[in-house]
Amino acid sequence: MKAVRIHEHGDVDVIKWEDIDTPFPGPNKVLIDIKAGALNHLDIWVRGGIPGVSLPLILGSDGSGIVAEKGADVNGFSIGDEVMINPLISCGECDHCVKGHENLCISMGVLGESCDGIFAEKIIINERQLIHKPEFLSFEEAAAFLLVGQTAYQMLIERAKITINNWVLIWGAGSGVGSIAIQIAKAKGARVIAVSSSKEKLDKAAALGADVTVDHSTQDVLKIVKESTNGFGANIVFEHVGQDTWDISMRSLSRGGRVVTCGATTGPKVNLNLTHLFIKQQTVLGSTMGSQASLEGAIGLLRQKKIKPVIDRVFPMCEIRSAHKYLESADQFGKVVVSRQ
Ligand code: ZN
Repeated sequence: MKAVRIHEHGDVDVIKWEDIDTPFPGPNKVLIDIKAGALNHLDIWVRGGIPGVSLPLILGSDGSGIVAEKGADVNGFSIGDEVMINPLISCGECDHCVKGHENLCISMGVLGESCDGIFAEKIIINERQLIHKPEFLSFEEAAAFLLVGQTAYQMLIERAKITINNWVLIWGAGSGVGSIAIQIAKAKGARVIAVSSSKEKLDKAAALGADVTVDHSTQDVLKIVKESTNGFGANIVFEHVGQDTWDISMRSLSRGGRVVTCGATTGPKVNLNLTHLFIKQQTVLGSTMGSQASLEGAIGLLRQKKIKPVIDRVFPMCEIRSAHKYLESADQFGKVVVSRQ
């Protein structure tokens, strides 16, 4: 069978679509016939080289497919079931896991980073990672949802405690996580200021419900946030950009506001003025992946059809190099997906 693997770090040329042995499911494990996978920025960082990655490695964190074989003691799924795969790996036994905070697990990992991922014709996975796919979702949509869905839910609801009528500034509205965050904020009755880099992307953000849109390449983000909020600033800033946007994020934040961040695509080193922080009684929140409550909350909104994965483009899985190049170009609005159908 074929898999998307890297044997060394580097540019897209290090990605191979190559033959590997078909795996066999042991106890509590299932063999999944993968139908689709979705790319995340994590795929690019793993390919380029980040600490803790052992090679060779099958890439890909997000995916969906059909249960093809079961090992012993698998009770929650049957052969033929359509599933989506939770990319978060946890021990299930530490204090954090027992309390449902798997994203705080002392040995937390992510498929496609800390172990082999899911971009392959077939994979072996623990039953604990599987979720029944809602029938109304295509395999491509199901693959595009779980990582960004639980991440955005965790940030806005569990961490930033979003409430009705809050103003939320969302950077990178065209990213996978940004496009879901807009929808979650609107589903909770908040008001959204969406920032992106082109009219086309901002029109799509408005179609998802954004109340105000800002083109950061031609407009003053801080000025528009202040004007939109009667000078108060945003109650919540949804950060995943880092160095390039941090100063404006902090200056856009209201008194008592919360900045919540899950990433630093432009770099992790930022300045923080502690005097402003304590005088304005602001909060800076880190967030990664999602707790069990966030995972279930995101799936709940999905089933209620209040949110949906946004897919920009689908590539055949064997054209994974083109998919990586496209994600790196930052031209997309929503998720870049690879399909085996
Ligand atoms: Zn644990």
